[in-house]
Amino acid sequence: MVEALIARGVREIPAAVGAGKLDEHMLLSRRLVAEAELRRIVVREAGVTFLDDDAVVGLTVSTTGPVPVTTGVRLRSGSRVDADLVVDASGRRSALPEWFAEAGLRAPLEDRQDCGFFYLTRFYGVKPGCEMPESKIPASFALDYGTVFALGADNDTFSLTITLSVDDPCRKALRKPDCFEAFLHAVAHSAPWISVGVPISDISMMSRIENRRRRTTTSDGPIIGGIVAIGDAALHTNPTLGRGISMGLMHAQHLAQVAHLAPDDPVGFVEAFSAWTDGHLGPWYDTQVAADAATQDRLAMGILGERYEPVDTQASRFAAAAFGLAAHDEVVGVAVAKMAHLFASPAEAFSDAEVASRIERFITGGGSFDRPPDVPDRRTFESLVTQ
Ligand SMILES: Cc1cc2nc3c(=O)[nH]c(=O)nc-3n(C[C@H](O)[C@H](O)[C@H](O)COP(=O)(O)OP(=O)(O)OC[C@H]3O[C@@H](n4cnc5c(N)ncnc54)[C@H](O)[C@@H]3O)c2cc1C
Repeated sequence: MVEALIARGVREIPAAVGAGKLDEHMLLSRRLVAEAELRRIVVREAGVTFLDDDAVVGLTVSTTGPVPVTTGVRLRSGSRVDADLVVDASGRRSALPEWFAEAGLRAPLEDRQDCGFFYLTRFYGVKPGCEMPESKIPASFALDYGTVFALGADNDTFSLTITLSVDDPCRKALRKPDCFEAFLHAVAHSAPWISVGVPISDISMMSRIENRRRRTTTSDGPIIGGIVAIGDAALHTNPTLGRGISMGLMHAQHLAQVAHLAPDDPVGFVEAFSAWTDGHLGPWYDTQVAADAATQDRLAMGILGERYEPVDTQASRFAAAAFGLAAHDEVVGVAVAKMAHLFASPAEAFSDAEVASRIERFITGGGSFDRPPDVPDRRTFESLVTQ
């Protein structure tokens, strides 16, 4: 799979954060390039049938046992597909609650957080004779009133993205290409990129950004057996950290390992799969929700030209020191890189005694990280995008 993606021009770079480099690699690609290759690979798999012009519109359900069990799906074309296990992999707009309601089932449990910001993204090619800047993680740079992202992709392309609050009075002005690019030139994080870029797309807007977790197992057990959701259909976080595909693949890998257990115990299978999802993917959802609450406060104050200061707790000092130190301390950098690339949970990454003591020494030594001086303040931003 990785070789096939690279043959299509997908870029492979070491997984790293600052001074911390891992042995693993990350792949950079525009969505369609990677998805088209994945589709070509899946089509060649024995036993896979694509129903191209069709879609799932509902479930078929057996209610003969104490807990209902899914027996298959109904398709838009009017036909049905019987199944030992139905997997809802239909993404963040999954209609599972409607299908449950239509089948007379209780509603799935949902946690939902509106993120309160939107994305503007444009893709670029590299100007002839120029070099693409190095892609780094984190790919984002937070300003008081927005966030700027720069990330390489396949075949000498890259994307530049700005997020702003949905309440920002400059949100429409920033969609004008001249304003969008003037601002990217003014931010040190994006300036080297925009300087070598030739636009190859319009500016696309992505709104309705949310974090959402959906569970079909309640404290009374599964609402229904024989059906699980994976990927974004089960839980998704806003795209800021670029984790959705990795989390979806982790989910799919686990499903592949255990799917053979479903036919014999469709209800127990759903319960065990839910527990695995909560235990292995839940922590990433929870940390994103906490981070996004702070982001909303930052943006609300940033619009007013004010600076958001996070509540000063031991945990917030620890996190700020860890991310700051990662830039030049290899040991802390590796711990942060493992966490950023989902190889270790925050608890696992920072439980190492050496990592923790380096961070504590930095904090007790009075260390702090000033933000770079060349960040456009709110007044500069407004004059750039309203000129
Ligand atoms: C703006 C943006 C930027 C992102 N950037 C990144 C990034 O840099 N890195 C990263 O890892 N993740 C990123 N993500 C997240 C990533 O795209 C998702 O996490 C990932 O695509 C989830 O995969 P999925 O297979 O669960 O769902 P999807 O990719 O949404 O696929 C769902 C599929 O189900 C099909 N479908 C839907 N309904 C039905 C139906 N009723 N019947 C049959 N088929 C149906 C759809 O057509 C689609 O093909 C980004 C997301 C957004 C919105």
